[in-house]
Amino acid sequence: MEDCLFCKIVAGDIPGEVVHTTERTVAFRDIDPKAPTHVLVVPRDHYANAAELAAADPQATAELVTTAAAVAAAEGYADYRIVFNTGAEAGQSVFHTHLHLLAGRPLTWPPG
Ligand code: 5GP
Ligand code: ZN
Repeated sequence: MEDCLFCKIVAGDIPGEVVHTTERTVAFRDIDPKAPTHVLVVPRDHYANAAELAAADPQATAELVTTAAAVAAAEGYADYRIVFNTGAEAGQSVFHTHLHLLAGRPLTWPPG
């Protein structure tokens, strides 16, 4: 999709610190990390949010989660948080589906 930041990172047109890839997903470090490990996992195909991806491509949705677990394990963390911000009022600023993987510090509940 034109003018989508994460489509451009997936395509390699904008640099990203990629830590893991699968057939359907790319995982790269967040540019403004909120935890020692803060990785974004995105589908290669463009969908606006997690629900749209799940409706269109359940396999890719599952791969986002299994990728997050694999990255957490690779970085030495058994405990981690997965977040899908959906909609601007919930904190979504990039409208290409992405999962936040956060790990490496105590994570309080509820989030802000
Ligand atoms: P959202 O707010 O949509 O849930 O998450 C978007 C995330 O993308 C934010 O955590 C933000 O720091 C990250 N981000 C924004 N621009 C870039 C960028 O150019 N590169 C990377 N790696 N992350 C970015
Ligand atoms: Zn996109």
